[in-house]
Amino acid sequence: MLAVEVNLRKKLKEIFGYQSFRGIQEDIIQNILAGNDSFVLMPTGAGKSLCYQLPAIVSEGTAIVISPLIALMKNQVDQLNALGVNAQFLNSTLSKAEMTKVRKSVLAGETKLLYVAPESLTKENNLEFLQKANLSFLAIDEAHCISEWGHDFRPEYRRIRYIMEILGEMPIIALTATATPKVQLDIQKNLMIEHATVFSTSFNRPNLYYEVRPKAAVKKQIVKYIKSRKNESGIIYCLSRKKVEEVYEFLKVNDIKALPYHAGLDSQVRMQNQDAFLSEEADVIVATIAFGMGIDKPDVRFVIHYDTPKSLEGYYQETGRSGRDGLEADCIMFYSPHDLVKLEKFNKDKSVTERDNARHLLQEMSAYATSGMCRRRILLSYFGETVDKDCGFCNNCKVPTEKFTTKEQVLWVLEAVMKTEQRFGINHIVDVLRGERNGYINTYEQDKLDIYGKGKEFTGAHWTSVMRQMMVYNLLEKDAEVFGAVRLSPKGLDYVQDPYALTFSKDHDYENLTEQDEEDKDIGSTRDGQAFDKVLLDMLKELRRKTAKQTGYPPYAIFQEFSLEEMATTYPTTEEELAQINGVGPGKVKRYGMPFIELIKKYVKENDIETVWDVVVKSTASKSKLKIFVIQQIDRKVDLEDICEVKNMSISELLDTIESICYSGTRLNLDYYIEQVIDEDRQQEIYEYFMTAESDNIQVALVDLGDDYSEEELRLMRIKFLSEIAN
Ligand code: ADP
Ligand code: MG
Repeated sequence: MLAVEVNLRKKLKEIFGYQSFRGIQEDIIQNILAGNDSFVLMPTGAGKSLCYQLPAIVSEGTAIVISPLIALMKNQVDQLNALGVNAQFLNSTLSKAEMTKVRKSVLAGETKLLYVAPESLTKENNLEFLQKANLSFLAIDEAHCISEWGHDFRPEYRRIRYIMEILGEMPIIALTATATPKVQLDIQKNLMIEHATVFSTSFNRPNLYYEVRPKAAVKKQIVKYIKSRKNESGIIYCLSRKKVEEVYEFLKVNDIKALPYHAGLDSQVRMQNQDAFLSEEADVIVATIAFGMGIDKPDVRFVIHYDTPKSLEGYYQETGRSGRDGLEADCIMFYSPHDLVKLEKFNKDKSVTERDNARHLLQEMSAYATSGMCRRRILLSYFGETVDKDCGFCNNCKVPTEKFTTKEQVLWVLEAVMKTEQRFGINHIVDVLRGERNGYINTYEQDKLDIYGKGKEFTGAHWTSVMRQMMVYNLLEKDAEVFGAVRLSPKGLDYVQDPYALTFSKDHDYENLTEQDEEDKDIGSTRDGQAFDKVLLDMLKELRRKTAKQTGYPPYAIFQEFSLEEMATTYPTTEEELAQINGVGPGKVKRYGMPFIELIKKYVKENDIETVWDVVVKSTASKSKLKIFVIQQIDRKVDLEDICEVKNMSISELLDTIESICYSGTRLNLDYYIEQVIDEDRQQEIYEYFMTAESDNIQVALVDLGDDYSEEELRLMRIKFLSEIAN
């Protein structure tokens, strides 16, 4: 492949308008451009598309992108066209004339990305013409569809290998957001890319807020919640069509712009409703899980599960559809044990193994829902990642349940697991600890063990909860060979040698709640401290909606939500300033910029606002860029170390910049970072100091507070103080 030598970062800004690559995007792109095969495993919203879009644009010839869903293709092609990139798709919806046009453009070498469904690709005449085309590389999106072990197997995907043989040697990139190790291997084998460089990142989605509520007064809570999120897009999932209709009706009578979506509706109505959601004529879509796969709306701000889902896998996928743009989004689930009973009934015609597996998935779901432990830790542990800190951004972190600390109970569990030879599951170990009787206990004479009955004073639910938390703490692990069995992890073995007290969370008691209790609760994350101007943001959104309508593109293809938020923070009033906004490149400024600039100008004038740009005109241009960059990054909760690395500056230099931003009157919320680096007690101490101190001079503070505190800590807390109180 002939790749032109390019400055990738420059291209990123020029074409996509982004300031920097996310995570490992650049490494992946380099790997493709070097002509190597790549296998990419990153969660939904991580930005996988860009990994093949950018190299396709800078390479000679056309890249083929295989994607399973027509809706998904159209979405991406629209977005690329809005950026001024020549991208096309080939699928069954095209007329003959359109088809001819696409072929011509590809053969002329003008098309940079050609999206195809695998079934269109195997059509004889398509293959023939592609053999004549100059192809740069082959990208296979949603690659888990190749594997029978995945949760979304598509037989057409099996044809890809044949296509590869016909089209001849070229680099391959396969991408997916869901692949257990087994599925991963299967994909690589099938595509014969076992040698590919594997790129994978954590499945954590730090911008998603997880909350589980007991199912009581649900409809009222949802209405109240949606009303507090004016103009925001959201999805509500229900398990049945009937429920979808019922919830939809309820929202409608409460003046919420909602639409239903389920397989019982006419396909045309379904399309219309989906389009209305994408174009923001409807805010909320109430749907069965048939909806969402392939919906690439980046600014879905909430996903609500009205009914309890049947597996954590499905749940994680569905919640993953929110907040793709990296901004905060809420994932709220309503839990009821009755839902689980209903779900069990669906399985009664299945084979014994299938039924066991389904029941097991439901148990995991129920354990997740009732647990008082940090939700993110439980979810990530379920997908095989150990995290050693609570996230601070789920309802269990926000409103913790009662805690207890113990060393003894941990040791008892570990002993019970070891003495029964690490061959049993949680339920059995609990029986041993409680001194219960069951077949195995009798057969293996486990009642003779010292540990038998030692934990009688606690309930079975208590022990189950402790054991599950020990799995999240990675003291116990699942035995891959024996279904359901748990054993000691290496960390667990160390623990036995050198034990220490551990803190556990009590499970939720959902039984004793009343409807009234629940009705009064506020659900969702609290989003305070955001720097942007809400009034202007609403005006910009309205303008975006109009522009979208005129152009026929979805609103987010015009400007993304975070770009609008940034405009409502920094008030760009010239083309140059607008081009500095993240997500806005020169192309977009030309095409859509003017009305937005006019709107902001008028707003700034009427409200007598001093903008960042006014403040920084006095200093040099590059300094202003840096400030805006820093404001943006902090808004998106990027760690300060990462900002320093990108900008090649020291933490002290960065703090200089942040301080100067604050002193010129912009509020910055550094809580996400402060939580990580300063203990709560220390935070409080410093904060109180600044509340009462005569001046905010750091040197004075260092003396007053004693040498227990570092300059960096004090400066961080001073910024917090300035932003919250002084500004
Ligand atoms: P995935 O396919 O991994 O689920 P997408 O490719 O759909 O994710 O990207 C999710 C969102 O992230 C999109 O809205 C995209 O525009 C945005 N995005 C991707 N890369 C960047 C970047 N480097 N900077 C800012 N936003 C980005
Ligand atoms: Mg994708």
